[in-house]
Amino acid sequence: MGNGSYSFRILASETTTVEDRVRELNAKAARRGLLGQVEATFGPVEEVTYDVDGRAVQCLVCQATVTGRPSHAGRFQVVAVATVLTEGPTEQPAVLVHEFADAPGLDLSGMAIRPQWCEDCRTNRRRTLLFLVRDIDDGRVFQVGRHCVQNYTGRTIAQPVGLLDLTEALRTFERDFDDEDMPTSTGGRDEEVADVLAATVAVIGSTGGYVPTSEKPATADFVRLTLAGGTVHRDRPEYAGAYAEAADILAYIDTDAFGSDANSYVWNVRQLVARGFVPSRQIAFLASVVPGYQRWKAEQAAAAAAPSQWFGTVGDRVQFTGVITRVITWESYFGYTPTTQALYLITDSAGRIAKWVASRPALGQETGATVTLTGTIKAHETYHDARLGVDIQQTVLTRCKAAQTPAADVA
Ligand SMILES: [Zn+2]
Repeated sequence: MGNGSYSFRILASETTTVEDRVRELNAKAARRGLLGQVEATFGPVEEVTYDVDGRAVQCLVCQATVTGRPSHAGRFQVVAVATVLTEGPTEQPAVLVHEFADAPGLDLSGMAIRPQWCEDCRTNRRRTLLFLVRDIDDGRVFQVGRHCVQNYTGRTIAQPVGLLDLTEALRTFERDFDDEDMPTSTGGRDEEVADVLAATVAVIGSTGGYVPTSEKPATADFVRLTLAGGTVHRDRPEYAGAYAEAADILAYIDTDAFGSDANSYVWNVRQLVARGFVPSRQIAFLASVVPGYQRWKAEQAAAAAAPSQWFGTVGDRVQFTGVITRVITWESYFGYTPTTQALYLITDSAGRIAKWVASRPALGQETGATVTLTGTIKAHETYHDARLGVDIQQTVLTRCKAAQTPAADVA
């Protein structure tokens, strides 16, 4: 999409038409806040004779050259593509979003994507594809249709260059999101969300664990076979447990523990759940929610079964050995010198948690190492873990010395 020129022969009488067209393109670019200007120049007029159906026709022609940088979206960035699911057993559409790798940081929270709308031409129509465009000046993200997106990717008079990049990005989207091994085993029909979740729970239960689609045979392969067999039904007693867990998973998907809509994965799962039906190509995608839920459930059960307990008395000098489970570092200023501070959470074998805010990353930046600290108990704190929904007792240490580090680590 650089500077270039594009040359073609026209009838001398058409020069004003070309000039008008160039003026129109520049005005359109300016109106849309795009950058770039093109200019038309014309060579000398020549007389040529054409053979038209055996008759000699004399014409005045000239060479037209369009130069300059075509209009491009300096102020805009196409940040995501969305597929709109409208066909199927429900009227409720789903909008599945995939952000482009070179446009990270898309925040979908609070966005209301209208499945038919284009913000550029301001029309509603049936659409299967939408693009999300970010206005770099003010951060606003808006949706446009597949034709209007060309206004934000840059184009020449001859061809919509930017659209080639989008086409490639779309292919990546399909590779990442859709299940290539589909769609015949379930006849390509949409499945109910609850059926897919229940079948996944049942398959994980009978095969002893979840296997991602990168390995074969994957859990999703068995889920598709099970669904195709037609035996999965909420009224069948052997699936009662699986459907009960599916109901819990649906409730979990609705909570913050599952995640925020800012994230397109969470957004897409919620879109499919709201629709109630999953196209066969996205069964594997939905099935991937189940192991995440089961891990969360296990962590929650572990936290509830063996809750972290405070230790010692405030003012005591104690020795504490455990594994570094969390490191958070940040910059702060003492006087005018920037220094890096670090917060460490250290968990011992009994599940007790010590918290130490160090004036420098004395224990490094990594989790997983076992350390022994000697420190003074400053406070007993309660931290509410919103993801697990449990209160966690933490014992705050101060003036710590890491026993295994030779250098003095008093902070
Ligand atoms: Zn449009």
